[in-house]
Amino acid sequence: MPFSDLGLSDKVLNAVETAGYTEPTPIQAEAIPHVLARRDVLGIAQTGTGKTAAFTLPMLTLLENGRARARMPRTLILEPTRELAAQVVENFDRYGTNHKLNVALIIGGVSFADQDAKLMRGTDVLIATPGRLLDHFERGKLLLTGVELLVIDEADRMLDMGFIPDIERIVKMVPFTRQTLFFSATMPPEIERLADMFLHNPQRVEVARPASTATTITQRLVATGSEGHAKRERLRDLIRGEGELKNGIIFCNRKRDVALLQKSLVSHGFDAAALHGDMDQRARTTALDAFRNGETALLVASDVAARGLDIPAVSHVFNFDVPHHPEDYVHRIGRTGRAGRSGTAYTLVSPEDSRSLGAIEALIGQPVPWFDGDLSTMADASADTGTRHRGRSGEARRGGRTAKGTGRSAPAKAADEGADRTSARGSRGAATAQRAEARPPASRPEARPPASRAEARPAPRRDINREERGRRPETDGETPVGLGSHVPAFLLRPVLAKKEK
Ligand code: AMP
Repeated sequence: MPFSDLGLSDKVLNAVETAGYTEPTPIQAEAIPHVLARRDVLGIAQTGTGKTAAFTLPMLTLLENGRARARMPRTLILEPTRELAAQVVENFDRYGTNHKLNVALIIGGVSFADQDAKLMRGTDVLIATPGRLLDHFERGKLLLTGVELLVIDEADRMLDMGFIPDIERIVKMVPFTRQTLFFSATMPPEIERLADMFLHNPQRVEVARPASTATTITQRLVATGSEGHAKRERLRDLIRGEGELKNGIIFCNRKRDVALLQKSLVSHGFDAAALHGDMDQRARTTALDAFRNGETALLVASDVAARGLDIPAVSHVFNFDVPHHPEDYVHRIGRTGRAGRSGTAYTLVSPEDSRSLGAIEALIGQPVPWFDGDLSTMADASADTGTRHRGRSGEARRGGRTAKGTGRSAPAKAADEGADRTSARGSRGAATAQRAEARPPASRPEARPPASRAEARPAPRRDINREERGRRPETDGETPVGLGSHVPAFLLRPVLAKKEK
Protein backbone atom coordinates (compact mmCIF):
# COMPACT_ATOMS: atom_id res chain seq x y z
CA MET A 1 0.00 0.00 0.00
CA PRO A 2 1.46 3.41 -0.90
CA PHE A 3 1.60 6.29 1.62
CA SER A 4 -0.77 8.26 -0.59
CA ASP A 5 -3.64 5.86 0.27
CA LEU A 6 -3.51 6.67 3.98
CA GLY A 7 -5.16 10.10 3.90
CA LEU A 8 -2.06 12.14 4.80
CA SER A 9 -1.79 15.73 3.57
CA ASP A 10 0.31 16.68 0.57
CA LYS A 11 2.85 18.47 2.76
CA VAL A 12 3.38 15.32 4.80
CA LEU A 13 3.52 13.05 1.71
CA ASN A 14 6.13 15.34 0.27
CA ALA A 15 8.27 15.10 3.42
CA VAL A 16 7.89 11.31 3.49
CA GLU A 17 9.14 11.15 -0.07
CA THR A 18 12.09 13.35 0.82
CA ALA A 19 12.87 10.99 3.72
CA GLY A 20 13.13 8.24 1.12
CA TYR A 21 10.33 6.03 2.42
CA THR A 22 8.56 4.15 -0.31
CA GLU A 23 6.00 2.19 1.71
CA PRO A 24 4.44 2.54 5.14
CA THR A 25 5.49 -0.04 7.72
CA PRO A 26 2.66 -2.31 9.01
CA ILE A 27 2.05 -0.19 12.11
CA GLN A 28 1.91 2.95 9.98
CA ALA A 29 -0.47 1.40 7.44
CA GLU A 30 -2.79 0.26 10.22
CA ALA A 31 -2.64 3.19 12.63
CA ILE A 32 -2.48 6.29 10.42
CA PRO A 33 -6.04 6.14 8.96
CA HIS A 34 -7.50 5.72 12.48
CA VAL A 35 -5.51 8.64 13.87
CA LEU A 36 -6.68 10.81 10.98
CA ALA A 37 -10.27 9.70 11.68
CA ARG A 38 -9.79 11.03 15.24
CA ARG A 39 -10.11 7.59 16.80
CA ASP A 40 -8.25 6.62 19.96
CA VAL A 41 -5.56 4.06 19.14
CA LEU A 42 -4.02 1.33 21.27
CA GLY A 43 -0.80 0.45 19.47
CA ILE A 44 1.16 -2.62 20.50
CA ALA A 45 4.51 -2.18 18.85
CA GLN A 46 8.16 -1.92 19.68
CA THR A 47 10.56 0.76 18.61
CA GLY A 48 12.16 -0.10 15.30
CA THR A 49 8.76 -0.81 13.70
CA GLY A 50 8.27 2.75 12.43
CA LYS A 51 6.00 3.50 15.39
CA THR A 52 7.14 7.11 15.79
CA ALA A 53 6.14 8.06 12.26
CA ALA A 54 2.85 6.19 12.81
CA PHE A 55 1.80 9.00 15.13
CA THR A 56 3.99 11.89 13.90
CA LEU A 57 2.79 11.84 10.31
CA PRO A 58 -0.97 11.98 11.02
CA MET A 59 -0.40 14.51 13.80
CA LEU A 60 1.31 16.82 11.33
CA THR A 61 -1.65 16.47 8.98
CA LEU A 62 -4.17 17.19 11.76
CA LEU A 63 -2.17 20.17 13.05
CA GLU A 64 -2.35 21.95 9.70
CA ASN A 65 -5.65 23.46 10.87
CA GLY A 66 -5.62 25.73 13.90
CA ARG A 67 -3.10 27.80 15.85
CA ALA A 68 -1.27 27.47 19.14
CA ARG A 69 -1.91 29.79 22.10
CA ALA A 70 0.66 30.83 24.70
CA ARG A 71 1.21 28.26 27.45
CA MET A 72 -1.50 26.01 25.98
CA PRO A 73 0.01 23.23 23.87
CA ARG A 74 -2.28 21.70 21.27
CA THR A 75 -0.82 18.22 21.45
CA LEU A 76 1.25 16.42 24.06
CA ILE A 77 3.57 13.44 23.64
CA LEU A 78 4.86 11.72 26.78
CA GLU A 79 8.09 9.72 26.57
CA PRO A 80 9.85 7.79 29.35
CA THR A 81 13.40 8.97 28.64
CA ARG A 82 15.01 12.16 27.46
CA GLU A 83 16.69 10.44 24.54
CA LEU A 84 13.41 9.05 23.25
CA ALA A 85 11.81 12.47 23.64
CA ALA A 86 14.67 14.03 21.67
CA GLN A 87 14.24 11.40 18.99
CA VAL A 88 10.58 12.30 18.58
CA VAL A 89 11.61 15.94 18.10
CA GLU A 90 13.97 14.79 15.35
CA ASN A 91 11.02 13.02 13.70
CA PHE A 92 8.97 16.23 13.74
CA ASP A 93 11.94 18.11 12.30
CA ARG A 94 12.34 15.54 9.54
CA TYR A 95 8.70 15.14 8.53
CA GLY A 96 7.63 18.67 9.38
CA THR A 97 9.94 20.49 6.97
CA ASN A 98 6.91 21.83 5.07
CA HIS A 99 5.09 22.99 8.20
CA LYS A 100 5.62 25.99 10.39
CA LEU A 101 4.88 24.35 13.70
CA ASN A 102 6.30 25.11 17.12
CA VAL A 103 7.69 21.97 18.70
CA ALA A 104 8.90 22.15 22.31
CA LEU A 105 11.01 19.60 24.15
CA ILE A 106 10.46 19.57 27.91
CA ILE A 107 12.93 17.25 29.60
CA GLY A 108 14.91 17.26 32.83
CA GLY A 109 18.61 18.02 33.08
CA VAL A 110 18.45 21.29 31.13
CA SER A 111 17.49 24.83 32.14
CA PHE A 112 13.88 25.83 32.75
CA ALA A 113 14.28 29.30 31.23
CA ASP A 114 14.56 28.25 27.57
CA GLN A 115 11.71 25.81 28.00
CA ASP A 116 9.54 28.54 29.57
CA ALA A 117 10.26 30.85 26.66
CA LYS A 118 9.21 28.17 24.17
CA LEU A 119 5.99 27.45 26.02
CA MET A 120 5.21 31.16 26.15
CA ARG A 121 5.46 31.43 22.36
CA GLY A 122 2.70 28.86 21.92
CA THR A 123 3.34 25.21 21.22
CA ASP A 124 1.77 22.98 18.61
CA VAL A 125 3.57 19.86 19.78
CA LEU A 126 4.88 19.45 23.30
CA ILE A 127 7.17 16.45 23.77
CA ALA A 128 7.96 15.77 27.39
CA THR A 129 9.14 13.41 30.06
CA PRO A 130 6.56 13.23 32.87
CA GLY A 131 8.59 14.67 35.75
CA ARG A 132 9.69 17.87 34.05
CA LEU A 133 6.23 18.40 32.59
CA LEU A 134 4.73 18.32 36.08
CA ASP A 135 7.42 20.74 37.28
CA HIS A 136 6.35 23.29 34.69
CA PHE A 137 2.72 22.71 35.54
CA GLU A 138 3.33 23.21 39.26
CA ARG A 139 5.25 26.40 38.56
CA GLY A 140 2.14 27.71 36.82
CA LYS A 141 3.90 27.92 33.46
CA LEU A 142 1.72 25.50 31.61
CA LEU A 143 -1.97 24.79 30.98
CA LEU A 144 -3.00 21.44 29.58
CA THR A 145 -6.64 22.31 28.96
CA GLY A 146 -6.02 22.99 25.27
CA VAL A 147 -4.57 19.55 24.49
CA GLU A 148 -6.52 17.99 21.62
CA LEU A 149 -4.36 14.94 21.17
CA LEU A 150 -2.31 13.04 23.76
CA VAL A 151 0.30 10.39 22.93
CA ILE A 152 1.50 8.07 25.68
CA ASP A 153 4.49 6.26 24.23
CA GLU A 154 6.38 3.25 25.62
CA ALA A 155 3.76 2.73 28.33
CA ASP A 156 5.35 -0.46 29.64
CA ARG A 157 8.65 1.35 30.11
CA MET A 158 6.80 4.09 31.97
CA LEU A 159 5.49 1.36 34.26
CA ASP A 160 8.97 -0.11 34.79
CA MET A 161 10.28 3.30 35.70
CA GLY A 162 7.59 4.13 38.23
CA PHE A 163 6.08 6.93 36.10
CA ILE A 164 2.50 5.68 36.11
CA PRO A 165 1.30 7.88 39.01
CA ASP A 166 2.69 10.91 37.13
CA ILE A 167 0.97 9.81 33.93
CA GLU A 168 -2.33 9.40 35.77
CA ARG A 169 -1.99 12.93 37.15
CA ILE A 170 -1.20 14.36 33.73
CA VAL A 171 -4.11 12.56 32.07
CA LYS A 172 -6.48 14.15 34.61
CA MET A 173 -5.24 17.59 33.53
CA VAL A 174 -5.97 17.19 29.83
CA PRO A 175 -9.55 17.50 28.53
CA PHE A 176 -11.71 14.38 28.66
CA THR A 177 -12.65 14.95 25.03
CA ARG A 178 -9.09 14.67 23.74
CA GLN A 179 -7.94 12.00 21.29
CA THR A 180 -5.49 9.53 22.87
CA LEU A 181 -2.85 7.36 21.22
CA PHE A 182 -1.33 4.82 23.56
CA PHE A 183 1.69 2.71 22.58
CA SER A 184 3.29 -0.13 24.43
CA ALA A 185 5.60 -2.96 23.40
CA THR A 186 3.93 -5.38 25.80
CA MET A 187 0.52 -5.48 27.47
CA PRO A 188 0.86 -6.71 31.05
CA PRO A 189 -2.38 -6.46 33.12
CA GLU A 190 -1.39 -3.12 34.66
CA ILE A 191 -0.98 -1.61 31.19
CA GLU A 192 -4.32 -3.10 30.05
CA ARG A 193 -5.92 -1.39 33.05
CA LEU A 194 -4.40 1.96 32.10
CA ALA A 195 -5.40 1.57 28.47
CA ASP A 196 -8.99 0.90 29.58
CA MET A 197 -8.89 3.98 31.76
CA PHE A 198 -7.28 6.41 29.30
CA LEU A 199 -8.79 5.36 25.97
CA HIS A 200 -12.34 5.67 24.67
CA ASN A 201 -13.43 2.91 22.33
CA PRO A 202 -9.90 2.51 20.94
CA GLN A 203 -8.85 0.91 17.72
CA ARG A 204 -6.37 -1.83 18.61
CA VAL A 205 -3.40 -2.01 16.27
CA GLU A 206 -0.80 -4.68 16.81
CA VAL A 207 2.37 -5.62 15.01
CA ALA A 208 4.10 -8.90 15.70
CA ARG A 209 6.43 -8.83 18.66
CA PRO A 210 9.94 -9.63 17.53
CA ALA A 211 10.06 -12.98 19.30
CA SER A 212 12.44 -14.17 16.64
CA THR A 213 15.87 -12.78 16.11
CA ALA A 214 17.25 -11.73 12.74
CA THR A 215 19.11 -14.44 10.87
CA THR A 216 21.85 -11.95 10.10
CA ILE A 217 22.95 -12.03 13.75
CA THR A 218 25.43 -14.63 14.92
CA GLN A 219 24.54 -15.33 18.55
CA ARG A 220 26.90 -16.98 21.00
CA LEU A 221 26.84 -17.70 24.71
CA VAL A 222 30.07 -17.22 26.59
CA ALA A 223 30.57 -19.09 29.87
CA THR A 224 31.96 -16.98 32.66
CA GLY A 225 32.19 -16.86 36.42
CA SER A 226 29.89 -14.54 38.34
CA GLU A 227 32.50 -12.22 39.79
CA GLY A 228 32.77 -8.80 38.22
CA HIS A 229 36.47 -8.94 37.43
CA ALA A 230 36.19 -12.43 35.89
CA LYS A 231 33.40 -11.17 33.65
CA ARG A 232 35.33 -8.05 32.71
CA GLU A 233 38.36 -10.11 31.81
CA ARG A 234 36.25 -12.48 29.71
CA LEU A 235 34.71 -9.50 27.93
CA ARG A 236 38.09 -7.95 27.16
CA ASP A 237 39.31 -11.23 25.73
CA LEU A 238 36.22 -11.42 23.53
CA ILE A 239 36.64 -7.87 22.25
CA ARG A 240 40.31 -8.43 21.54
CA GLY A 241 39.49 -11.66 19.73
CA GLU A 242 37.08 -9.90 17.36
CA GLY A 243 39.22 -8.62 14.53
CA GLU A 244 36.17 -7.30 12.68
CA LEU A 245 34.83 -5.24 15.54
CA LYS A 246 33.75 -1.92 14.10
CA ASN A 247 31.76 -0.82 17.08
CA GLY A 248 29.76 -2.45 19.82
CA ILE A 249 27.20 -1.84 22.53
CA ILE A 250 27.80 -3.58 25.84
CA PHE A 251 24.65 -4.00 27.91
CA CYS A 252 24.65 -4.28 31.69
CA ASN A 253 21.59 -4.98 33.83
CA ARG A 254 22.53 -2.41 36.46
CA LYS A 255 23.57 1.18 35.95
CA ARG A 256 26.29 0.99 38.60
CA ASP A 257 27.91 -1.79 36.55
CA VAL A 258 27.76 0.43 33.45
CA ALA A 259 29.95 3.04 35.13
CA LEU A 260 32.30 0.46 36.63
CA LEU A 261 32.74 -1.46 33.40
CA GLN A 262 33.30 1.64 31.30
CA LYS A 263 36.06 2.84 33.66
CA SER A 264 37.63 -0.60 33.68
CA LEU A 265 37.62 -0.80 29.86
CA VAL A 266 39.20 2.63 29.56
CA SER A 267 41.88 1.68 32.10
CA HIS A 268 42.68 -1.28 29.84
CA GLY A 269 43.12 0.98 26.84
CA PHE A 270 39.72 0.50 25.22
CA ASP A 271 37.80 3.35 23.72
CA ALA A 272 34.51 3.22 25.65
CA ALA A 273 31.75 5.63 26.68
CA ALA A 274 28.98 5.04 29.23
CA LEU A 275 25.25 5.66 28.88
CA HIS A 276 22.91 5.24 31.82
CA GLY A 277 20.05 7.13 33.37
CA ASP A 278 22.00 8.63 36.27
CA MET A 279 24.26 10.64 33.98
CA ASP A 280 23.44 14.27 33.39
CA GLN A 281 21.91 15.17 30.07
CA ARG A 282 25.00 16.73 28.58
CA ALA A 283 27.11 13.64 29.35
CA ARG A 284 24.41 11.37 27.87
CA THR A 285 24.22 13.38 24.67
CA THR A 286 28.02 13.56 24.36
CA ALA A 287 28.38 9.80 24.82
CA LEU A 288 25.66 9.00 22.33
CA ASP A 289 26.92 11.45 19.71
CA ALA A 290 30.48 10.15 20.03
CA PHE A 291 29.25 6.61 19.47
CA ARG A 292 26.99 7.57 16.58
CA ASN A 293 29.80 9.52 14.88
CA GLY A 294 32.23 6.65 15.29
CA GLU A 295 34.54 8.57 17.63
CA THR A 296 33.97 5.98 20.36
CA ALA A 297 33.96 2.33 19.37
CA LEU A 298 32.27 0.92 22.47
CA LEU A 299 29.18 2.10 24.30
CA VAL A 300 28.49 0.57 27.70
CA ALA A 301 24.78 1.02 28.34
CA SER A 302 21.85 0.05 30.49
CA ASP A 303 18.61 -1.12 28.88
CA VAL A 304 16.64 1.93 29.83
CA ALA A 305 19.18 4.37 28.44
CA ALA A 306 19.63 2.45 25.22
CA ARG A 307 16.00 1.54 24.69
CA GLY A 308 14.60 2.64 21.39
CA LEU A 309 17.66 4.60 20.34
CA ASP A 310 18.09 4.64 16.63
CA ILE A 311 21.77 3.79 16.21
CA PRO A 312 22.54 2.45 12.76
CA ALA A 313 25.18 -0.13 11.84
CA VAL A 314 26.41 -1.64 15.08
CA SER A 315 28.68 -4.61 14.37
CA HIS A 316 28.63 -6.18 17.85
CA VAL A 317 26.44 -6.48 20.89
CA PHE A 318 27.82 -7.83 24.15
CA ASN A 319 25.47 -8.75 26.95
CA PHE A 320 27.69 -8.32 29.98
CA ASP A 321 24.72 -9.64 31.97
CA VAL A 322 21.93 -11.95 30.81
CA PRO A 323 18.83 -9.73 30.81
CA HIS A 324 16.11 -10.67 33.30
CA HIS A 325 13.31 -10.08 30.78
CA PRO A 326 13.66 -12.26 27.68
CA GLU A 327 12.23 -9.52 25.40
CA ASP A 328 15.16 -7.34 26.43
CA TYR A 329 17.49 -9.94 24.90
CA VAL A 330 15.71 -9.70 21.56
CA HIS A 331 15.72 -5.95 21.79
CA ARG A 332 19.40 -5.71 22.76
CA ILE A 333 20.76 -8.00 20.09
CA GLY A 334 18.46 -6.32 17.56
CA ARG A 335 20.80 -3.31 17.76
CA THR A 336 23.07 -5.25 15.43
CA GLY A 337 22.40 -7.12 12.19
CA ARG A 338 20.03 -4.37 11.05
CA ALA A 339 18.90 -3.85 7.48
CA GLY A 340 20.46 -7.07 6.22
CA ARG A 341 23.94 -6.35 7.61
CA SER A 342 25.66 -9.08 9.54
CA GLY A 343 26.16 -8.71 13.26
CA THR A 344 27.47 -10.63 16.23
CA ALA A 345 25.93 -10.88 19.68
CA TYR A 346 27.78 -12.40 22.62
CA THR A 347 26.10 -13.05 25.94
CA LEU A 348 28.17 -13.69 29.05
CA VAL A 349 26.49 -16.42 31.06
CA SER A 350 27.39 -17.33 34.63
CA PRO A 351 26.00 -20.34 36.53
CA GLU A 352 23.17 -18.42 38.18
CA ASP A 353 21.83 -17.19 34.82
CA SER A 354 20.35 -20.53 33.76
CA ARG A 355 16.76 -19.49 34.52
CA SER A 356 16.96 -16.22 32.58
CA LEU A 357 18.73 -18.00 29.75
CA GLY A 358 16.00 -20.66 29.63
CA ALA A 359 13.36 -17.94 29.31
CA ILE A 360 15.28 -16.33 26.43
CA GLU A 361 15.71 -19.58 24.54
CA ALA A 362 12.01 -20.35 25.06
CA LEU A 363 11.07 -16.94 23.65
CA ILE A 364 13.28 -17.11 20.57
CA GLY A 365 12.41 -20.78 20.10
CA GLN A 366 15.93 -22.05 19.71
CA PRO A 367 19.00 -22.74 21.81
CA VAL A 368 21.86 -20.27 21.44
CA PRO A 369 25.18 -22.02 20.75
CA TRP A 370 28.09 -21.71 23.16
CA PHE A 371 31.19 -19.90 22.04
CA ASP A 372 34.05 -21.95 23.51
CA GLY A 373 32.68 -24.38 26.02
CA ASP A 374 29.56 -24.24 28.17
CA LEU A 375 29.15 -23.71 31.90
CA SER A 376 30.40 -27.20 32.73
CA THR A 377 33.82 -25.95 31.63
CA MET A 378 33.47 -23.23 34.24
CA ALA A 379 32.47 -25.77 36.87
CA ASP A 380 35.65 -27.72 36.07
CA ALA A 381 37.72 -24.57 36.37
CA SER A 382 36.27 -23.78 39.78
CA ALA A 383 36.65 -27.39 40.94
CA ASP A 384 40.33 -27.14 40.01
CA THR A 385 40.84 -24.12 42.20
CA GLY A 386 38.39 -25.25 44.86
CA THR A 387 37.94 -21.70 46.07
CA ARG A 388 35.20 -20.44 43.86
CA HIS A 389 32.90 -18.83 46.38
CA ARG A 390 35.26 -18.20 49.20
CA GLY A 391 37.00 -14.95 49.98
CA ARG A 392 39.31 -13.94 47.13
CA SER A 393 37.83 -16.61 44.93
CA GLY A 394 38.00 -14.51 41.80
CA GLU A 395 41.75 -14.24 41.91
CA ALA A 396 42.14 -17.96 42.42
CA ARG A 397 39.88 -18.73 39.50
CA ARG A 398 41.39 -16.13 37.31
CA GLY A 399 44.72 -17.79 37.95
CA GLY A 400 43.17 -21.02 36.71
CA ARG A 401 41.91 -19.47 33.50
CA THR A 402 45.11 -17.60 32.81
CA ALA A 403 46.99 -20.87 33.14
CA LYS A 404 44.80 -22.18 30.31
CA GLY A 405 46.23 -19.38 28.22
CA THR A 406 44.02 -16.35 27.84
CA GLY A 407 47.17 -14.61 26.71
CA ARG A 408 46.88 -11.63 29.05
CA SER A 409 49.93 -9.66 29.95
CA ALA A 410 50.97 -9.05 33.55
CA PRO A 411 50.41 -5.26 33.38
CA ALA A 412 46.88 -5.80 32.09
CA LYS A 413 46.13 -8.04 35.06
CA ALA A 414 47.55 -5.49 37.45
CA ALA A 415 45.41 -2.82 35.87
CA ASP A 416 42.34 -4.97 36.34
CA GLU A 417 43.04 -5.49 40.01
CA GLY A 418 43.78 -1.83 40.35
CA ALA A 419 40.46 -0.95 38.77
CA ASP A 420 38.61 -3.38 41.02
CA ARG A 421 40.29 -2.15 44.15
CA THR A 422 39.82 1.48 43.29
CA SER A 423 36.15 1.00 42.66
CA ALA A 424 35.69 -1.06 45.80
CA ARG A 425 37.31 1.71 47.80
CA GLY A 426 35.78 4.59 45.95
CA SER A 427 32.19 3.51 45.65
CA ARG A 428 29.94 1.88 48.16
CA GLY A 429 27.67 0.71 45.39
CA ALA A 430 30.48 -1.04 43.61
CA ALA A 431 31.70 -2.63 46.82
CA THR A 432 28.20 -3.92 47.50
CA ALA A 433 28.03 -5.25 43.98
CA GLN A 434 31.24 -7.15 44.47
CA ARG A 435 30.07 -8.59 47.76
CA ALA A 436 26.88 -9.74 46.07
CA GLU A 437 28.88 -11.31 43.27
CA ALA A 438 30.99 -13.27 45.75
CA ARG A 439 27.92 -14.88 47.29
CA PRO A 440 26.92 -18.42 46.36
CA PRO A 441 24.25 -18.49 43.65
CA ALA A 442 21.40 -19.61 45.92
CA SER A 443 21.71 -16.54 48.10
CA ARG A 444 21.99 -13.98 45.31
CA PRO A 445 18.94 -11.79 45.14
CA GLU A 446 19.72 -10.99 41.50
CA ALA A 447 19.67 -14.68 40.60
CA ARG A 448 15.88 -14.79 40.79
CA PRO A 449 14.32 -13.13 37.76
CA PRO A 450 11.38 -11.01 38.87
CA ALA A 451 8.06 -12.74 38.32
CA SER A 452 6.73 -9.68 36.57
CA ARG A 453 7.84 -6.28 35.41
CA ALA A 454 5.73 -4.73 38.13
CA GLU A 455 7.73 -6.63 40.72
CA ALA A 456 11.01 -5.30 39.35
CA ARG A 457 9.79 -1.71 39.39
CA PRO A 458 11.06 0.58 42.12
CA ALA A 459 8.40 1.80 44.50
CA PRO A 460 7.39 5.32 43.43
CA ARG A 461 9.10 7.89 45.64
CA ARG A 462 6.98 10.89 46.31
CA ASP A 463 9.48 12.85 48.35
CA ILE A 464 12.15 13.51 45.75
CA ASN A 465 12.27 16.72 43.82
CA ARG A 466 11.43 16.84 40.14
CA GLU A 467 14.99 17.10 38.97
CA GLU A 468 15.62 13.83 40.78
CA ARG A 469 12.62 12.27 39.06
CA GLY A 470 14.24 12.83 35.72
CA ARG A 471 17.21 10.85 36.93
CA ARG A 472 15.57 7.81 38.46
CA PRO A 473 14.55 5.88 35.43
CA GLU A 474 16.43 2.71 36.15
CA THR A 475 16.21 -0.02 38.72
CA ASP A 476 19.39 -1.16 40.33
CA GLY A 477 18.24 -4.70 40.97
CA GLU A 478 15.91 -5.60 43.80
CA THR A 479 16.01 -3.54 46.93
CA PRO A 480 17.54 -5.55 49.77
CA VAL A 481 15.64 -5.59 53.03
CA GLY A 482 17.91 -4.69 55.94
CA LEU A 483 21.30 -6.16 55.10
CA GLY A 484 19.82 -8.36 52.37
CA SER A 485 21.42 -11.77 52.48
CA HIS A 486 24.77 -10.36 53.49
CA VAL A 487 25.71 -11.31 57.03
CA PRO A 488 28.54 -9.19 58.46
CA ALA A 489 31.49 -11.21 59.71
CA PHE A 490 31.16 -9.98 63.31
CA LEU A 491 27.70 -11.59 63.55
CA LEU A 492 29.19 -14.95 62.60
CA ARG A 493 31.85 -14.94 65.33
CA PRO A 494 31.19 -17.47 68.13
CA VAL A 495 29.81 -15.79 71.24
CA LEU A 496 31.82 -16.46 74.42
CA ALA A 497 29.37 -16.32 77.30
CA LYS A 498 30.86 -15.18 80.63
CA LYS A 499 30.61 -17.73 83.40
CA GLU A 500 28.32 -16.76 86.28
CA LYS A 501 30.28 -16.31 89.48
P1 AMP B 1 10.86 3.88 15.09
O1 AMP B 1 10.18 2.54 15.29
O2 AMP B 1 9.89 4.98 15.05
O3 AMP B 1 11.95 4.09 16.09
O4 AMP B 1 11.55 3.87 13.65
C1 AMP B 1 12.66 3.08 13.35
C2 AMP B 1 13.38 3.52 12.07
O5 AMP B 1 12.58 3.25 10.93
C3 AMP B 1 13.73 4.99 12.01
O6 AMP B 1 15.09 5.10 11.64
C4 AMP B 1 12.85 5.55 10.92
O7 AMP B 1 13.49 6.59 10.23
C5 AMP B 1 12.62 4.36 10.02
N1 AMP B 1 11.33 4.37 9.31
C6 AMP B 1 10.13 4.79 9.79
N2 AMP B 1 9.17 4.63 8.85
C7 AMP B 1 9.75 4.08 7.78
C8 AMP B 1 9.26 3.65 6.49
N3 AMP B 1 7.98 3.76 6.16
N4 AMP B 1 10.14 3.14 5.63
C9 AMP B 1 11.44 3.00 5.98
N5 AMP B 1 11.97 3.38 7.15
C10 AMP B 1 11.13 3.91 8.06
